Amino acid sequence: MFLIDSTVRGSVPKTRLKSNFPQKVCLICERPFVWRKKWKRVWQTIETCSERCRGEARRRRRSSRAIVSVYPR
Ligand SMILES: [Zn+2]
Repeated sequence: MFLIDSTVRGSVPKTRLKSNFPQKVCLICERPFVWRKKWKRVWQTIETCSERCRGEARRRRRSSRAIVSVYPR
């Protein structure tokens, strides 16, 4: 049992574990960022790599809404 276990572990490269995390591209700075533990519950809603970019995204969204509201429904 121990022999088999250590063989399997040895065949998995460490770098592969890292790339197993999901990745997204930041809406603002367009840099790829990797899943973080603190985003575990909100990962689906994460669109930006940092607080700073998140603030920028909010501002852009607000201004794009203003543009949309110019047009009649
Ligand atoms: Zn960013």
